[in-house]
Amino acid sequence: MPGEQPKLSNLIKLNTNENPYGPSPRVLAAIQAEVADGLKLYPDPNSDKLKSAIANYHGLTPANVFVGNGSDEVLAHVFQALLKHERPLLFPDITYSFYPVYCRLYGIEYQTIALTDSFEILVSDYLRPNGGIIFPNPNAPTGRLLSLAEIERLLRANSESVVVIDEAYIDFGGESATELVKQYPQLLVVHTLSKSRSLAGLRVGYALGHPDLIEALIRVKDSFNSYPLDRLAMAGAIAAMEDHTYFEETRRKVIASRTWLVEQMQHMQFAVLPSGANFIFARHPQRDGAEIALKLRERSIIIRHFRKPDRIAPYLRITIGTDAECQALADALREISLDVAS
Ligand code: PMP
Repeated sequence: MPGEQPKLSNLIKLNTNENPYGPSPRVLAAIQAEVADGLKLYPDPNSDKLKSAIANYHGLTPANVFVGNGSDEVLAHVFQALLKHERPLLFPDITYSFYPVYCRLYGIEYQTIALTDSFEILVSDYLRPNGGIIFPNPNAPTGRLLSLAEIERLLRANSESVVVIDEAYIDFGGESATELVKQYPQLLVVHTLSKSRSLAGLRVGYALGHPDLIEALIRVKDSFNSYPLDRLAMAGAIAAMEDHTYFEETRRKVIASRTWLVEQMQHMQFAVLPSGANFIFARHPQRDGAEIALKLRERSIIIRHFRKPDRIAPYLRITIGTDAECQALADALREISLDVAS
């Protein structure tokens, strides 16, 4: 189930990991220019210019790039084109909820691997026969990050099947595995413009990998929808990939607000998992997650609470907002925690 998109105004919306800052002004200008230029023509089915912009940004070639209508669509093609094998696909027991959905949709066998008690991915747990491996880094909804050295250890030990690293949140503090793409032909790294580039509404995502993997994805995409990206999405996405200054500025702001919020919450006795993402995963020692989420909602702040599996039920997933939003959240949580103490 995707996170709720409420219709009410005046809400502080910290439930779906969107970026609190708008897209770069250069993105808006590029989309406006594209509107003016006429939407009567079909877009480029190969998205060549966008692929070049993405390849330039990552120091790769356009043949290493696959683009889609949001990374959810990219992932759907990845599951269908690359992850269906006799041996099971491996992913963590607590992870992005779409993975088991795609497995069921495409009839893919899978096996979940339990995170450690501190919600970490242990690479050694994945060194077993498999038809592929996928996990987000940082993981969702925990925010916990795996080091690049550990990912490389996994790639060295697992060369026979595709390893997909879903880096939806990597720009908020992690080291990207994209630099390993040239070295490891079994590696596919998936990115989105929804988070660090503030374009969740535009729907652009991409995968980076060996040209053979990319070609397999293109074959599936072409038999499904030749034009997944419209002209506005491509124009906006190119501008977003090229505006380094805005990207750096906004992601740094999000990281600084996260540091501030974590400190505030720790003062209120919350246990907060280390986060490399634009959200944090935290629990209060005396109250369960559902209760706090409800009390925040009464104060017009919405965050995400997952009832299942049981071991994450005490936790709250909170998207990092603007400084004013983080302040309002901290104030509300202080009231709620004081309530507990009294
Ligand atoms: N991967 C992960 C881990 C996510 O949390 C999300 C966002 N829900 C996505 C992929 C998909 O993002 P989008 O389709 O907006 O690119």
